[in-house]
Amino acid sequence: MVFIFAVFLAVRGWHLVHRQWTSVPGVSLNAEAMQAIMRTSWIPAIAGIVLIVLPYLVTWGWPSHVDIFSALVLVTWMIVPGVIAHEFLHAVGWWIAGRIPSHQIRFAVAVRQVAAFAYTHHDLRIWAFQVGALLPVVLLGALPAAGGVLLHEPALVIFGFLMLVASWSDLVLASSTFKYPARSSFNHCAQGDARLQLFAHINDPIMDQTPS
Ligand SMILES: [Zn+2]
Repeated sequence: MVFIFAVFLAVRGWHLVHRQWTSVPGVSLNAEAMQAIMRTSWIPAIAGIVLIVLPYLVTWGWPSHVDIFSALVLVTWMIVPGVIAHEFLHAVGWWIAGRIPSHQIRFAVAVRQVAAFAYTHHDLRIWAFQVGALLPVVLLGALPAAGGVLLHEPALVIFGFLMLVASWSDLVLASSTFKYPARSSFNHCAQGDARLQLFAHINDPIMDQTPS
């Protein structure tokens, strides 16, 4: 029951955050591409249940009420640091793999919209974009979830699950780039690709608004 509620919260939170992103003043998102991603956000929720929650339950059985409660309290405290770490890991990936000067990577928080961004105007190689896009998916989603299943830690399972579901747009964007040669320019590929323009469009207007 708690897991079903967690799934509901994850999907609902995901929808809220992304609906709000489109209403950040001055940001012109590619609404069609965004809606296409939102419509499929049930996929990571189902995948997370099958690949993470079920293996945990099969291995360890249902956690006690006390364990579930303390896990939920812990995860609640971990959500904001988790989101900050998520954006920070995007930046680290683009900084190291993309060899972008660190001052060219910026962060933005739309407080009222409850949304955080990492972005850069600097062009990236496709493979470097993939590294930065997937780093938080692996380090904050897959790794904690797998660790939680192996170590019998429900808090890690819930945290990894939520972080994976929240990374769905990163996964979709990254998967849209695998058809391009790894060394080609991200900005060049984005010119004819609606999904990649979604990332590009998030970046541009915020960059313009952000005082330097
Ligand atoms: Zn992300």
